[in-house]
Order: sequence, then C-alpha cells, then structure tokens
Amino acid sequence: MDKKIYFDNAATTKVRPEVYQEILPYLDEMYANPSSVYTIARDSKKAIDKAREQVANAINATTREIYFTSGGTESDNWAIKGVADAYKNKGKHIITSSIEHHAVLHTCEYLEKQGFKVTYLPVDKYGLINLEDLKSAITDETILVSIMFANNEIGTIEPIKEIGKITREKGIIFHTDAVQAIGHVPIDVKDMNIDLLSMSGHKIYGPKGTGALYVRKGVRITQFIHGGAQEFNRRGGTENVCGIVGLGKAIELATSEMEEENKRLLELRQTIIDGILNTVPYTHLNGHPEQRLSNNVNITFDFIEGESILLMLDFKGIEASSGSACTSGSLDPSHVLLALGLPHEKAHGSVRITLGRYNTKEEAEFLLKELPPIIERLRNMSPLWEDFLKSNK
Ligand SMILES: *Cc1c(COP(=O)(O)O)cnc(C)c1O
Repeated sequence: MDKKIYFDNAATTKVRPEVYQEILPYLDEMYANPSSVYTIARDSKKAIDKAREQVANAINATTREIYFTSGGTESDNWAIKGVADAYKNKGKHIITSSIEHHAVLHTCEYLEKQGFKVTYLPVDKYGLINLEDLKSAITDETILVSIMFANNEIGTIEPIKEIGKITREKGIIFHTDAVQAIGHVPIDVKDMNIDLLSMSGHKIYGPKGTGALYVRKGVRITQFIHGGAQEFNRRGGTENVCGIVGLGKAIELATSEMEEENKRLLELRQTIIDGILNTVPYTHLNGHPEQRLSNNVNITFDFIEGESILLMLDFKGIEASSGSACTSGSLDPSHVLLALGLPHEKAHGSVRITLGRYNTKEEAEFLLKELPPIIERLRNMSPLWEDFLKSNK
C-alpha cells in the first residue's frame, strides 16, 4: 500500500471537510470580534451561540452550562482546580482513578502540594473502577470525584451513571473527562448526574486547541482565566471563533452519526482483535472485552518491545501508538497498563491501534497480513523469547 494507514485516532484526528468548510468564512471576511456592536460582529456572536447550542444538545445540557476552552487539558484543569478552590471550605479531599489522563492526574498532584488530599482508586484487570471502593473512599471531607468516561489507552468505559448516582446521593461534585467518549458513547449529563464534563475538538475531527467544559447550573467553580467578560464572565479572552465554530460542527456530526459509525467501527475493531489474537501466539487484549470504545484495540505482544513493533509498522506505512501520545518518547511504561497489573516488560510490549472514520476494511486486512511476520522477526531477535523457548524444551 502506498498510502499511509492512520491507526492513531485516539491521539488526534484529521479535520473533516464539513468542519473545515464551516470554519473557512471566519478565517476570512467574518473576522469581527464577537464583542463588538456592528453587524458582522453580531454574526460572529451568532456563530458562537450556534456552536454552544450544538455542544449543549450533544450532551443534553443547556447553552448556559457550556464554556469554551482551549481543549481537553484546559477543561480538566479548570474543572478540578476550579471546584477545589470553590469548595475548599467544605473539605479538601478529592477522589480520582489511577488510570486518568495526565491532564487530570498532574492537576491532582498539583493540588496535593496545595494541601488537598487525593485518593487514586485502583482498577481491576480490565481497567474498571470498583463502586464499593468508591463508596468507602468517600469521607465528610470529600468535595469532588473525577473519573474518566472512557480511557484513552485501553478504551475501557467506566460505569459513569452508577458513579453519578453515588455522588449525587452524597452531595459530592462529579467531574468526568469525556474526551474519548464523546461521539462514541451516548452521553446525557442529566440522566447520568454529571456535574462537570470535559470535551475536546481534535479527537472528533475538529480543530486542535478547541474544547469545552460543561458545568451544571448551581455548581460553583472559580474563574480560571482572568480578563474580559467572555464566556459568562468565567473565561476571559477574545473567543477563538474559528475553533469554536469547528468544535460545534464536529460535535454535532459526531453525535448524529454515532450509532451508524459505531456499528462499522465495532466490526473493524473485532476483525483486528480476533485476527491478531487468533494468528499471533502469546498476545493479550488489554482493557475490557465488551465495555470498551468501538475504536480501540490495545494488545500486548509477549517477549518484545512495543516501540520496535511501531517502528516496523511505520516502515510498512502503518501508523500506530504504544499508548498515549503524551508518554511516547519517554521510556516509562504506561501508568494505565501498570495499573491493570501488567508487569513492566508486558506494559512495554503493548501496541494501541485506534480506528476512525477514514479507516477501511482493506486497511485492517493489510495490518493483519503485515503484523504477524513483524512479530515473528522481532521475537527471533529477542533474548526473552530465546529464554522462553529454551525453558520450554
Ligand atoms: C486527548 C485527551 C485529553 C487532552 O485533550 P487536549 O484537547 O489534547 O488537551 C484529555 N483527556 C483524554 C482522555 C484525552 O484522550
């Protein structure tokens, strides 16, 4: 195949043409500052209002509950620091999980240095938190629970509705990082009792540097960026009109096409998972077999390094990942795989393949043809494999 095959859709996605077309006018004649009073400024303002409606509709929120941000990382930072600050007189305890994205984990670590106490809930071998663990971690001091909707490395979908039931009963704020879930899993913030929810544009075919935070009416949150009166006086700075327009369109498309696209992706995902597990020995699926994102494949190949697999796949024009984009380049194994109980060498031997709307059946078949000989070659060079063969003679 001459064309590159992009299997890293959890890292980022290509802006889709409908989104790109929607943005174009705002890079051109529609450049007015939405806070100004003349006609074209009102058009910019209207474009933002429309995007806010698109985002709100996607999760069953109201427009007044949606704040535009610079992405998932900012939304996570704002949600956690903003709630911690607003409720610190009530208590200084936060509960999260050990498999969160670094945007959540590092924010919690920062708050620990500021005198907050953080409980990092463990997960089972599939990456699921235990609801009994959550209940027993809650104290009178607990002000916030932050648990991700779906994990970006292993695709496991957490029991969000059940968590929301527990936190609402106890009167504790519930934030969820839904960056990987939106457009893949139906989300209803009211039905699920979610108080804050983070979204990002570039994981769903929108532009990078765009995101939103849902904050339920009545939940207090400290202002994060001080400046002008934009975003209901809560986040200053002239709006990223192009980005906001793109995010709105991307979320609208992703949610309206979700059901149909999920069916297609699910079939593709299973073809790849079954194809690898059935043809390559000593391989294991990471994450939950069913309660997982329709686009996520994460597999450990015993005795070899994920990084070498990636290099050889790249040689064939196949672009995959060994985990999150944030940890590649570092030699530390993924904190998510370690939290599942994988030993270091198995965590190092893992490859993540994340599918998207542009991936085809032919591409999946190409992967299934190219991968087994790569694994065989690498194992033939691996001292671990050699030791294993000797010990099994
Ligand atoms: C990508 C990602 C983020 C960060 O979003 P950005 O828009 O890139 O800042 C946060 N959480 C999860 C689960 C992600 O996958």
